[in-house]
Order: sequence, then C-alpha cells, then structure tokens
Amino acid sequence: MSENVKIGVSACLIGEKVRWNGMHERDRYLSEILAKHVEFIPLCPEIACGMGIPREQLRQTDCAENIRLIGYESGDDLTQKMTDWADRVLPGLEKEDLNGFVLKPRSPSCGMRHAKIYSTTGKPPRLGSGFFARKLMTYASLLPIETSDRLQNPIVRENFIRRVFVYKRWNQMLSKGKSIGNLVDFHTRHKMLIRAHDLRGYKELGSLLGQANQSNTDTTFNNYATLLFKTMTLKATAKKNSDVLFHAMGFFKKQLDLGDKQELQTAITAYQNGMIPLLIPVTLLNHYARKYQKPYLTQQYYLNPSPTELQLLNHV
Ligand code: SF4
Repeated sequence: MSENVKIGVSACLIGEKVRWNGMHERDRYLSEILAKHVEFIPLCPEIACGMGIPREQLRQTDCAENIRLIGYESGDDLTQKMTDWADRVLPGLEKEDLNGFVLKPRSPSCGMRHAKIYSTTGKPPRLGSGFFARKLMTYASLLPIETSDRLQNPIVRENFIRRVFVYKRWNQMLSKGKSIGNLVDFHTRHKMLIRAHDLRGYKELGSLLGQANQSNTDTTFNNYATLLFKTMTLKATAKKNSDVLFHAMGFFKKQLDLGDKQELQTAITAYQNGMIPLLIPVTLLNHYARKYQKPYLTQQYYLNPSPTELQLLNHV
C-alpha cells in the first residue's frame, strides 16, 4: 500500500461471516484488487449494534413515513437499537479518517437506493436506502459512498476512485487551514478533473471562488465542498473526457508538429470510441506537458494522479 487510503466497507463484502445466516457475501473486486491498494475498515452495523449470528432477517417497514427496522418473522422492532448505536458511533466517524465507503446493495441496513421498504397498507414495497446507509449519508454527507454491485461498472468505478482521492486531498487541504489561497490552489489543480465530470458545475465553482473573500471563508468552503462533491458524482463520460483532452491539446498548438498532433488526436478519438483506456491519451498529454513545460497542465491531478490512484485507474 503506497499511501494511506482508508475505505469503510460492509464487512460481509470482504469475506467476514457476519450475515444473518452466518455466511459472507465476498466481492471479488473489493477482496482481490481494491484490498491491495487501500486499507479497509470493515463494519457490520447489525453486529455492531448488538445483534448476533445467526439472527433473524430484517426488513424495513414504512409506518406513516417513519421507517422502522423489523424482524422478518417475529415482528420485533429493532429500530431503537440500531438508531442508538448509529447516533452514538457515526458522529465519531471523522476520527477514522475514512476516504470512502462501500456498502452491500439491497440490504435493509447497508443498501443504498435499492433496499426494499415495505408498506403497512399492502402496497408493493418501494425502494430506498437501508437504515444504516441513510444514517451514514446524513452524518457524512460528502463522503464518497457506493455499493459493490455498482462498482462492477467501469465508469462508476472510475468515478468512485476519483472521488475517494479528491475527498482525501480535500481533507488534507482542510488540515492546512481554511484560507482562500489554499482553496484557490486546490481548485486550480482539480480544474480538468472537475470539468470532466460537469462543465456547468466547473463554471459554478469558478464563479463561487470569484466571490470569495476573507469575510466569508466558512460559507465559501461549505458551499464549495457541497457543489464540488455533487459535481463529482456526475459521470465523467467518454465524451466529457474527450472534450477535456482536446481542450488540453490546445495548449500545444504551436509546439506539436503535424505527426504528433495526429497521434494525439487519434489516441483521443480511439479512447472516445472505447478502443483504448483513458490513461493512454492522458499519459501522452502528460508527456507533452512536461516536455513543453506547461505548468497549468503539469499540476493537474487529472493528468498526474497519485501512484495509488493511477494503479487503481489502471484496473478500471
Ligand atoms: S448488516 Fe451490512 S455488513 Fe452486516 S451482514 Fe448485512 S449487509 Fe453485511
């Protein structure tokens, strides 16, 4: 592990036998690839709040807009047990210094968006977040969170890895102190990356910084962080990445000869058509940025990910 990247994970996903039936739900990508590059902090909220193994299966039930965690067979209400534990433990999550969280899909505790929420009126179940996941997203609203099934999709996976590293750098920047100078430097080095996720968010972040001054530092930091991580959740598609790459290519209008330009253009187009990975045109651009000394480009995290980030992106 070349740098300390910590990711919380539903414990059953990395092979811990914590499920209601004493089994695990080991995920190959997490256990065989991600685990080599990050430190996992495993957590089973059902065990942590005091339930045993084996235990009764749970389900969420919507009781007049109040979602309860109920034993499947017995009807026992375990809502308070989970709530007391989560409200005690989650405020201290910051101290764990997590950079992201991977949750098990569809679980009534850990699921995110696609956990079933049953009705008391006989209506078919609706889908929403699991009980613990909802609490986690409330207490750590900026933390990059994904479910293991969605990480099978290469674009979602790349997006999650990028967000994890942006979140890590965000916290590193905060630890140096909240100054507008630090924030402007952070923004400058992330410009291409943000732009690849959403041009509108990129422009809004730029204008937010344009209005920043020493008297509104806290508000600026809060608004910037909210908008940044909202923007980063939007997918950086091949089209958006290609636009950013062509924009960067414009920095070498005068230096590159026709052959070099054609090579770069061919690489970007091949990437856009799904024939080669993003890292190939990115590496070419990085090479030219250094060769022709373009400081704006050489400081971009988009072209210069950290070694761990680069290794993980190589697996996308
Ligand atoms: S509560 Fe979460 S971590 Fe525990 S078994 Fe269920 S899905 Fe896995």
